Amino acid sequence: MERAAAWIDLGALARNIGLLRAKAGGAAFMAVVKADGYGHGMIPVARTARDAGAEFLGVALPSEAWHLRAVGDRGRLMAWLYPPSEDLRPCVATDVELGVSSTGMLDQVARAGAGELKRARVHLKVDTGLGRNGCAMPDWPDLVAAAVRSREAGRIEVVGIWSHLACGETPGSPVTADQVATFAEALDVAAELGVKPELRHLANTGGVLCAPATHFDLVRCGIGIYGLSPGPGQLGTGPELGLEPVMSVTAAVALVKEVPAGQGISYGHLYHTSGPTRLALVPVGYADGVPRAGSGVLPVALNGRRFTVAGAVAMDQVVLDVGDLPVAAGDQVSLFGPGADEAPTADDWAEACGTINYEIVTRLGSRIPRRYREGSR
Ligand SMILES: *Cc1c(COP(=O)(O)O)cnc(C)c1O
Repeated sequence: MERAAAWIDLGALARNIGLLRAKAGGAAFMAVVKADGYGHGMIPVARTARDAGAEFLGVALPSEAWHLRAVGDRGRLMAWLYPPSEDLRPCVATDVELGVSSTGMLDQVARAGAGELKRARVHLKVDTGLGRNGCAMPDWPDLVAAAVRSREAGRIEVVGIWSHLACGETPGSPVTADQVATFAEALDVAAELGVKPELRHLANTGGVLCAPATHFDLVRCGIGIYGLSPGPGQLGTGPELGLEPVMSVTAAVALVKEVPAGQGISYGHLYHTSGPTRLALVPVGYADGVPRAGSGVLPVALNGRRFTVAGAVAMDQVVLDVGDLPVAAGDQVSLFGPGADEAPTADDWAEACGTINYEIVTRLGSRIPRRYREGSR
């Protein structure tokens, strides 16, 4: 057994995409593969998503989009986050569609198009209430008008109008209802100014699962395709839909040894053994994405039993107090995964560390190799 590995079940990924596409009804499907496919490996995830019928891939950064083009992805692809210094010509040249939230970004994209003698393909983004990216409603008519001028000058094409949800994973959220109403208003304003795009899109995974009114023409799913719930509870991952966690992380015990009662464990001696016992050393730490906030609270499973990490999570290792459980160096430790055989889930880790499953999988370190299983589709 190697030191540690993240097992990526591409069959489960494909099944999750099938379930979410069905849930989204007639809407087109964007698989969101930013941040190295939420830590699962962007390229294999992207290939599987295309095979499973994703009409779109979505990434945050232009560099992520070029990477996909560089490995041969030719399908519809969107990127939405870049500063004014970003050279967008490689995106426009390869038909990467770009989110645009301001007249400054519109100019930047149009200039890239002019440089490539191509119309840049633009999705105008309106802030319907998230209070993050997107054009504020008072500025929206100006942005749309500027887009119309740029379109008439042959510099861009408006293919989409879109926004992002703040509380999509909360069923019945009044915030989502407000956002849908504001989105409709923004679409009306655009239509009056002569912009009726091919694609209106608002839903993330939470919206797909909890708010059908957000589905429109295209849905953008990240966390759900990886088989994880977008919010508290088992949204989509319970028996009613059955999304399956795609990532399982394992490690091999590096050392087992006996210690006396009162032995302080790891930096700061945050834990002391209560009697003579045995310790198992697990060779993963915060450099691998095991949160240091998991010191003394993080669950793992070993030989069918649950343990809590004893003492501090160090850079490269954690310690388990295994008592008289039969354990030998080389035995497999389950860090997190689908939750079979007492093994914790990414949600268990998130809860122990005061974070969300998104952060657990996304921050898994690059020192842990991703191993792919095609699985059955
Ligand atoms: C990351 C992201 C998504 C995916 O969200 P999930 O909650 O993971 O489904 C969708 N849209 C935008 C704009 C994003 O940044």
